[in-house]
Amino acid sequence: MTEQQHAVNLNVLIVEDEIAIAEGLVDVCELKGYHVKHAADGITGLAEALSGKYGLVLLDLMLPGMDGFTVCDKIREKDKDLPIIILSAKNSDKDIIDGLKYGADDYIPKPFSVPMLLARMDAVLRRS
Ligand code: CA
Repeated sequence: MTEQQHAVNLNVLIVEDEIAIAEGLVDVCELKGYHVKHAADGITGLAEALSGKYGLVLLDLMLPGMDGFTVCDKIREKDKDLPIIILSAKNSDKDIIDGLKYGADDYIPKPFSVPMLLARMDAVLRRS
């Protein structure tokens, strides 16, 4: 499959409480042809992620309601395969290791560049 075919019709869930970052991510993903839904807190994000509608989740860690590690862990209790990429300003080795232990497929420290984010999304989706 080409990169373009990956993007078409794929539903991406963005769980992010900072509106400016969320809007930027929505714009970037829509430009790439993804269908995007935004959840602004951990509880809504978890419920959406488990709805079965999404092919990829972009997950912030510091969220109101439920933190991203817990969201990731609870997604993995129910769904082993849903691709999850953590995007976080928490960027110590421990945070990254914890994120991967909780079942994330990738962990991208903020700030990140758009081309790198898109390349990592493609990489995770190639394997799913
Ligand atoms: Ca946050």
